[in-house]
Amino acid sequence: MISVAEAIQIVKEQTRRLATERVAIQNSLDRVLAEDIVADTDLPPFNRSQMDGYAVRAEDTNDAPVRLRIVGESAAGKGWHHDLKEGEAVRIMTGAPVPNGANAVQQVELAHELKDNTVVEILESVAPGRSIVERGNEITGGETILRSGVVINPAMQAVLASFGYASVEVGVQPRVGVMATGSELVAVDQVPGRDQIRDSNNYSIAAYAERAGALVERFPLTGDVTADLATAIDDAAKRCDVFVTSGGVSMGVYDFTKAALKKLGAELFFERVALRPGKPTVFARLPNGTLVFGLPGNPVSVSVTFNLFARTTLRAMQGANDPTLTTENGVLAKPVKGSLDRDSYLPAQLTTNDDGELVAFPLKWGGSSDFVAFARATALVVIPAGVKIMDSNAIVKVLRLP
Ligand code: AMP
Ligand code: MG
Repeated sequence: MISVAEAIQIVKEQTRRLATERVAIQNSLDRVLAEDIVADTDLPPFNRSQMDGYAVRAEDTNDAPVRLRIVGESAAGKGWHHDLKEGEAVRIMTGAPVPNGANAVQQVELAHELKDNTVVEILESVAPGRSIVERGNEITGGETILRSGVVINPAMQAVLASFGYASVEVGVQPRVGVMATGSELVAVDQVPGRDQIRDSNNYSIAAYAERAGALVERFPLTGDVTADLATAIDDAAKRCDVFVTSGGVSMGVYDFTKAALKKLGAELFFERVALRPGKPTVFARLPNGTLVFGLPGNPVSVSVTFNLFARTTLRAMQGANDPTLTTENGVLAKPVKGSLDRDSYLPAQLTTNDDGELVAFPLKWGGSSDFVAFARATALVVIPAGVKIMDSNAIVKVLRLP
């Protein structure tokens, strides 16, 4: 049995990055960026007014109220490109370029126009620099703004657009096959007969895989027969970079997933992890190169093991800088039992307390089959192996679920 940390390390070592491709900016959401994004302009590209008001020489307003001659107008998209001189003002709008010679903008609320709008009375003096964002204040042209390996979010799309990236290089999406195994399983649209249950794992696995950026293909349910499993895995895996099964990896007489993988000549990297829930997780590679995750059948074990291991592979294949779930520290809200020989990854909800600390509430749950309780979880709290009981108020590691 290996530790969770060792298992994640092995997963990273065995995962190879896929190629990259160019996609249009509007198709880049949640994809992993595969190039550095460099600013092609200063931001702002000119001295920009932050207010509607009057561009002036600040020193002309020292004895406010003062009257200045209006010599022009600078609007967003249509600036006034002359030199402003002593005693002059230019009517200016938010986002418009500040004329040469002006060094402050007095806001419209502190001024009013007179004499058929040829003169403005500035009611209060304005300090130099007021309401002007200087050219290059936010970004200098040539600066690297986003680094290769980040997952593109909506705000980053605005960044890409601002610097003219109509298309970007991203990691190719892994093709993931999903197959539930178990002779007791029926499809969602069937009424389970005696001794049967509906397959739920295919849905959670496919959804988590899509959230990790994969293209998912679902394969038919397969019963607990080694030959059938081997044929099904062999056929399906040809079309996949990663193949994820659930069920049939424990020690029961009908647990045949490993036997099927061995029959196909797969190399098994691990088959037991010191993890609760999810001990019998299998990680292997088929002779054609497809990576296989044989997850346990229990639905909660599926969610935990998928997100610790399979998700890591999917993000690493796309070139993500940090393919694992982000780890944070949180305060444990109530005591929970750990396990002597395994790390526990337990369902929890997160809130913050009055001190602004992240607080993890472990959920009451009935074990690894209790997927109804797990549906309320937003995070996993980690109780390291060897800790019999983690007391409330202890600081624990917290992983947010995708
Ligand atoms: P196994 O790992 O095959 O021993 O399965 C462990 C438990 O998970 C059993 O109670 C199975 O019936 C259940 N199970 C297995 N596969 C699925 C599935 N696809 N959807 C829901 N439950 C499952
Ligand atoms: Mg089974």
